[in-house]
Amino acid sequence: MSAHATSPTSTPTPLDSRTVLRECAFCPNTCRPAWPADAAPQLESQTPSALALIALAVLDGRLDPARSGALAALQRRDAVRASQARCTFGHDVDAALDAALATSAETRR
Ligand code: SF4
Repeated sequence: MSAHATSPTSTPTPLDSRTVLRECAFCPNTCRPAWPADAAPQLESQTPSALALIALAVLDGRLDPARSGALAALQRRDAVRASQARCTFGHDVDAALDAALATSAETRR
């Protein structure tokens, strides 16, 4: 066995969705070059970091998801999905947004 072999205990655990959203919300959108140059102009309100901020506001109770329009905004994932392969941190923001929406729906029941 090599001195550099990884043991099962050294496997990093996946970050929880709230941590992913926090890191993304304050990231300067380093994934932006993933948006195709010939695509429609990217809307700032639909960037991964913008959606992460909106999701955190919903989770923290600062935005009513239905009345504020946040639910509709969080469905606009084109930029998030385009960025997936270029995320500097390797985050799955799409999955983190899904988890946030599920948590929010659970809380509202
Ligand atoms: S998807 Fe990754 S690179 Fe893009 S803004 Fe979020 S954390 Fe930053």
